[in-house]
Amino acid sequence: MSGDHHHHHDHDHDHDHGHDHDHGHAHSPPQPDDKVHSYHQILSIALKELLIEKGVVTAAEVRSFIEKRDSITPAHGAKVVARAWVDPAYRARLLEDGNAAAAELGFPITGTKLVAVENTADTHNVVVCTLCSCYPRDLLGLPPAWYKSRAYRARVVREPRAVLREFGTDLPDDVALRVHDSTADIRFLVVPQRPGGTQDLDEEALAAIVTRDSMIGVARLEEGAH
Ligand code: FE
Repeated sequence: MSGDHHHHHDHDHDHDHGHDHDHGHAHSPPQPDDKVHSYHQILSIALKELLIEKGVVTAAEVRSFIEKRDSITPAHGAKVVARAWVDPAYRARLLEDGNAAAAELGFPITGTKLVAVENTADTHNVVVCTLCSCYPRDLLGLPPAWYKSRAYRARVVREPRAVLREFGTDLPDDVALRVHDSTADIRFLVVPQRPGGTQDLDEEALAAIVTRDSMIGVARLEEGAH
């Protein structure tokens, strides 16, 4: 259940299926629970119930898994970035083996390879999953809605500079731009450039200025924005 290559077909049908007209009772407005599930939601519920019934997983394990997932936020990735900024040896380990470096800080990543890509004065990195929505969820939590959108997935490959500009990121022409396409096996973490004027900040304060979008690569951390 940890695979990200479920394709996200969110065509929920919210139209009213209650065609029970004129049975002598007042129509009440539809309740949230009346929401009609999509085909894939039904499949996922059925699979979950079957796994529980067959004793493969328990309901408690499913709940605990979801709770663990929900507890992961971009703050985890920000701690990795801040450590890399203050500790050159850690930075080298992170670029060499993202999984091991994340685990060092207590963020285990299972089932996928984490590749950290570092922004420098001449190279900027941005991440996409052109196929669906693969994302370093073990480090950043759930991806933002725009990351999963067809527009972002298609356009960031074709016209990355224009897309970055729409995020407010004006990349100078002499800065090379690398677009990394995530897969079921490989996830990317962008290590943004440490902004100027932050020499007095400690690691914790540095982590607080690292944004989710800067770790996806659609934004840069600007000097004085902290
Ligand atoms: Fe994907």
